[in-house]
Amino acid sequence: MSKQITAVRGMKDIYGREAAAFDHVVNTATRLMRRYGYQPIRLPVVEKTELFVRSIGDVTDIVEKEMYTFEDRNGDSLSLRPEGTAGCVRAVIENGLIHNQVQKLYYTGPMFRHERPQKGRYRQFHQFGVETFGIATPDVDAELIALTARLWDELGLDGLTLEINSLGNLHARAQYRDVLVDYFRANASLLDEDSKRRLETNPLRILDSKNPEMRPLIEEAPKLIDYLHQEDREHFDAVLGYLDALGIPYEVNPNLVRGLDYYNRTVFEWTTTELGAQGTVCAGGRYDGLVEQIGGRPTPAVGFAMGIERLMALILDKNRLPYYSDADIYIVAAGDKALKPAMVLAEQLREQLPGLNVQLNCGGGSFKSQFKKADKSGAAYAVVLGDEEVESRIAGVKPLRGQGEQEVVSWDELADHLGGIMGCYLR
Ligand code: ATP
Ligand code: MG
Repeated sequence: MSKQITAVRGMKDIYGREAAAFDHVVNTATRLMRRYGYQPIRLPVVEKTELFVRSIGDVTDIVEKEMYTFEDRNGDSLSLRPEGTAGCVRAVIENGLIHNQVQKLYYTGPMFRHERPQKGRYRQFHQFGVETFGIATPDVDAELIALTARLWDELGLDGLTLEINSLGNLHARAQYRDVLVDYFRANASLLDEDSKRRLETNPLRILDSKNPEMRPLIEEAPKLIDYLHQEDREHFDAVLGYLDALGIPYEVNPNLVRGLDYYNRTVFEWTTTELGAQGTVCAGGRYDGLVEQIGGRPTPAVGFAMGIERLMALILDKNRLPYYSDADIYIVAAGDKALKPAMVLAEQLREQLPGLNVQLNCGGGSFKSQFKKADKSGAAYAVVLGDEEVESRIAGVKPLRGQGEQEVVSWDELADHLGGIMGCYLR
């Protein structure tokens, strides 16, 4: 045997129940987006490196240490996308989608960050992201939060906490930054290595430190929220007012600053204590300056992204995966003459009963071994075809879950019969 080739570190294969939970998250979220009037957009996985440097910011962890950046064959610097917002903003500008128009968009797909792999943290992971363009008012901030709250409800996830804060505008942040730097300088002996570095590059990020020893110092730090300008304060109060009206509980967390440079005003995260250290399942905020920063006309924007692997893990931990059997009907066919009619009948049933999952036994085997597989599939009924049934153009319909005796049904009536006993409509 040749030496086995393994996957790249931090890049996870997803299969079995995890894959089912993953699909469940994406499908549920997609259906919900359409109910709120959002449209799909599909974006490239690779972008010019400069796009991320200019949008995410060159002193952020992502751009400094986590991007998969490479030169292509023409010598251009490209990067695997570490998040979806930058590419989405580029696309709406480039395609003229925000010229005098509002856009409400969603996307999903893989993202790449060279981080230390651990539970809930991978180097390839998947996000479901939502972005709105052209709406400056706080109603849309609240709508996005309402939509996420409804998604948790539909996924059967309780116990998630909404943390929310306002970052105000650039001026207030610059003013606050000075105050914060003075405070941390005065307490320099209490800073860890990471924070000392951030003090020079991105001091607000110290507030985001995951080091418990930094907590007391951070708790006592001056708060950005006390430096907000009047209009930003009003915007924030209006968002909270909508959440109150909707009955969505939240915690104002003055230390929530988010890792990306482009946010202003509203920022929020949904967190859980049930996934260990990787407890943020969804994060987002307003980024009114980004479109202009990337070369478009000034356009207000707000969005969020959720981590699909983390939601998937939560759904499995809490046993919230709806049960889908691998099959509703399992077609058992043995004998030279039965194989072709079985294939044709399977297609007819799929055509006429679109609500049912019809599995045809592929790969042969005796009746006995096929019935074993039928049983294991979770199907409610087996449709049985042997040479004798084919002679008379009939099939056996055998209940597999103790619902009575086997019946004999003609081919012409089979779809009607199965639809009746399974409670499904016939096309
Ligand atoms: P964290 O604080 O966990 O590193 P972040 O602030 O870097 O998160 P965002 O850039 O806001 O995360 O991405 C939005 C969501 O994507 C996160 O809330 C999380 O659920 C998910 N996510 C981010 N990085 C990873 C990763 N490396 N592996 C799995 N999921 C991730
Ligand atoms: Mg991160």
